[in-house]
Amino acid sequence: MDFAERVTHLAQEGAYHMLARAQALEATGRRIIHLEVGQPDAPTFENVTRAGIKAIEDGFTRYTVPAGMPALRKAIAEDAVQRYGMEFSPNQVVVGPGAKPALFFPTLALVRPGDEVIYPDPGFPTYAAMVGVAGGKAVPVPLLEENDFSFDLEAFDRLVSDRTRMIILNSPSNPTGGVMPVSALEHIAAVARDRDIWVLSDEIYTRIAYDGLQVPSIVTLPGMAERTVICDGFSKTYAMTGWRLGYGIMPEALAERVGLLLTHSIGCTASFTQVAGIEALHGPQDQVDAVVAEYQRRRNMLVAGLNRIPGWRCRMPQGAFYVFPNITATDKSSAWWEDFLLDQAGVGVLSGAAFGANGEGYLRLCFADSMENLSEAVDRIADAVARL
Ligand code: PLP
Repeated sequence: MDFAERVTHLAQEGAYHMLARAQALEATGRRIIHLEVGQPDAPTFENVTRAGIKAIEDGFTRYTVPAGMPALRKAIAEDAVQRYGMEFSPNQVVVGPGAKPALFFPTLALVRPGDEVIYPDPGFPTYAAMVGVAGGKAVPVPLLEENDFSFDLEAFDRLVSDRTRMIILNSPSNPTGGVMPVSALEHIAAVARDRDIWVLSDEIYTRIAYDGLQVPSIVTLPGMAERTVICDGFSKTYAMTGWRLGYGIMPEALAERVGLLLTHSIGCTASFTQVAGIEALHGPQDQVDAVVAEYQRRRNMLVAGLNRIPGWRCRMPQGAFYVFPNITATDKSSAWWEDFLLDQAGVGVLSGAAFGANGEGYLRLCFADSMENLSEAVDRIADAVARL
């Protein structure tokens, strides 16, 4: 079929593809441990679920303002004021069905044909996809394992050009779990200010950080609020992946444009979902802290276990819920390991190459799963490798 050029580069997301393969094996009776998909294993918090059900019963089943219910936009702005320690107004907040619209629509609003957009590689596959749809050129910047998977700043300096329109950051990162240090953010901010470049900062994992780390954001640096779009949401922090609720925070004029894009595409986000979002923000936050503490225990166990697999080397991620072990010393490709672990160990993982060319030599495993499953996964991987 003859498609418009703007969609010809689009491909399956690796995680969905692997999930389908793992489920096909399960249908034959095999027990598979799913570490390939990135979502919390626990259900949505009880108070949030109740608020959503009550909202349906109370009749929150109609259209809302496209950019989001005023009460939710206010709650999000207040939460941001508290977390970033700076001013944000509800007019800067745009609500969408998931965080993805807060990536896609600002990109459509800003990136013109021929513009270049710098993005992390390995990185979330949506970045290159959406830049292509906007008619821009996606320019990958390698992440350096030895810098805890922060940007290779020398490569960044080389790749920035007069055509660079936007820089995409993702800290804590999917797939590496790396957190960008303030020094790297300062370097990037200076370039963005000098060259008048936008920054799209995907902070969906910002509340999931370990060892007491407060994840720094580029938006707090001088002169950056006027050129930064923060993308965040409820999927990961509040275990709400299927509710579809996320948001962007950006300069007001851009928020208005993004609101118009929402008007003419999705119309609005489900209203009862938005009510549940208000409860998520206003309800007790210690349940988020408790989940993060549990992820930390799982992370520690998994990293120790994977470092015992011959030829594997796994850094301790500082945030998100992924480990990204380096398997280059095994002389086997990431795709080989992905197939082998699914077929021989019954463990679903993702090839690092699913996140860009620089992900080759790595695997992504999600540790938002029970301690029992993670411990069994390590045993199964070790056994399968011993049988090689
Ligand atoms: N950004 C990153 C880095 C992600 O990993 C994800 C989901 O996996 C998203 C954005 C999208 O989140 P949502 O499901 O809320 O659209």
